Amino acid sequence: MSEKRNEIKDLGEFGLIDRIAADFAVQNPTSIKGIGDDAAVVHGGTDRMLISTDMLVEGIHFDLAFTPLHHLGYKAVAVNVSDIAAMNGRAEQITVSIGLSNRFSLEAVDALYQGIKAACQSYNVDLIGGDTTASYSGLIISVTVIGRANEEMIAYRNGAQPNDIVCVTGDLGAAFLGLKILQREKEVFEADPQMQPDLEKYEYMVGRQLKPEARADIVFDLAEHRVKPTSMIDISDGLASEILHLSKQSKVGIRIYEDKLPIDSFAYETAVEFKIDPVTCALNGGEDYELLFTISKDDQEKLKNHPDIHMIGYVHERADENVMITKQGTVVPLRAQGWDHLKK
Ligand code: ADP
Ligand code: MG
Repeated sequence: MSEKRNEIKDLGEFGLIDRIAADFAVQNPTSIKGIGDDAAVVHGGTDRMLISTDMLVEGIHFDLAFTPLHHLGYKAVAVNVSDIAAMNGRAEQITVSIGLSNRFSLEAVDALYQGIKAACQSYNVDLIGGDTTASYSGLIISVTVIGRANEEMIAYRNGAQPNDIVCVTGDLGAAFLGLKILQREKEVFEADPQMQPDLEKYEYMVGRQLKPEARADIVFDLAEHRVKPTSMIDISDGLASEILHLSKQSKVGIRIYEDKLPIDSFAYETAVEFKIDPVTCALNGGEDYELLFTISKDDQEKLKNHPDIHMIGYVHERADENVMITKQGTVVPLRAQGWDHLKK
């Protein structure tokens, strides 16, 4: 690219903030005061407030060699909205704090905020503040989200009961495969910069990695069907790891069935191509940002026909027995491999 590079220092910190503020008018009635004062003002109302923070650090959580900045901005918001959805709440405001090294131009910051803005629009949340600082070590982006939920509707990790049904949304494992594809293309490119990556057939997986969506829609669907999950968590580290969280906090055990795991057909094929077991991807790949939740058996019928909610198992009493029943009928223990070890 031969476009002109504008330096942030020419604009200054306040100039940069003004530029951001000008592009982010608040929409939610509960956002009383956004960017521009010493603190934002949010209407308390009668609901419970839900607050969560996620920080993304260059080199740890993302690689700018294959992560476009607008996707990164979108993802930083989506992963936070996902945490509110995982409480069965609705996100309304975010603050965004960024640390920037002098490698980043004004155009780069604009691209980052374009993604943040797109996410704000798709999840109907307002950017109401943040902080801006210099950094020696690349890009750091920390987002705090504020959401709300009626006290009775909040879904904690500790509410699963024996005989509950275990549900998962969407499909699993594709985001991890997307990362594998991007890492492979990066290596190919580094070896021979003339090589242009052919990502078309991997579009779905790459999209799941670079532009994950929070399942805020599921919170609305559950309310519409009058179902309150007995427990819920979002899948950031992999299904197995999240199942163990629900198990530990709810003091119950979970049994899932291999043949019920939702795996996209492109993801399945790609896993085979990479010589990784597709089921391992679904269990231990990370960053799908789908929701894992339990519902009472009485509610099973209400969600039976939902096209994007899959019933994969059930809850039982023995907290030390978290297992998968394979297609052959063997019982295998679920292990929290996280996905850091798969990443390497
Ligand atoms: P203070 O010195 O009081 O921390 P700042 O100059 O850091 O004030 O921030 C001024 C206003 O701009 C505040 O409303 C703050 O929330 C907002 N702000 C600062 N940086 C960002 C950013 N990166 N994104 C969004 N809002 C920001
Ligand atoms: Mg500040």
